[in-house]
Amino acid sequence: MVNTLAQPPLAPELQQVWALLEAVTDPEIPVVSIRELGILRDIRSRDGELEVVITPTYSGCPAMGQIEDDVRAALQAHGLAARVVTQLAPAWTTDWMTESARTRLREYGIAPPHTLAASNVIRFATKSVAQHALPAVACPRCGSENTTETSHFGSTACKALYRCLDCMEPFDLFKPH
Ligand SMILES: [Zn+2]
Repeated sequence: MVNTLAQPPLAPELQQVWALLEAVTDPEIPVVSIRELGILRDIRSRDGELEVVITPTYSGCPAMGQIEDDVRAALQAHGLAARVVTQLAPAWTTDWMTESARTRLREYGIAPPHTLAASNVIRFATKSVAQHALPAVACPRCGSENTTETSHFGSTACKALYRCLDCMEPFDLFKPH
């Protein structure tokens, strides 16, 4: 159960902004919102001005300018203005992705990244297992783990191109980092 008492309650207007920005999706993966991907870090009010904090999935990600524009447009549609702040530290990690984002990526045909938690488990495994430390990538179409990387760079730099050796379909893996 989530302990909602651990965090101070949000001001109603900030809650409303979180809800509005739920509609802003990743420009490259339109099925997931920037909130689910962990790109939307914070919404706060500073000196009476609304501030939206975003962290790029990697520095120099070409989608960030688009995301900033989309955030501003979503707010403007409701008569709101905000300063969009790009925060680079701490660096974005695939661990910030929600479970729903992982599920939607899979449904969209992109293998979700492995979690760092999973690689921590492997660290304590036997040497022979650790040598194969990268967890198998399951095909998002048929679920087979009989897959192989065909290119370390897929349609974008944050994805790798894989191929399923059972259903023979190529697919993208969202690289964990
Ligand atoms: Zn397959």
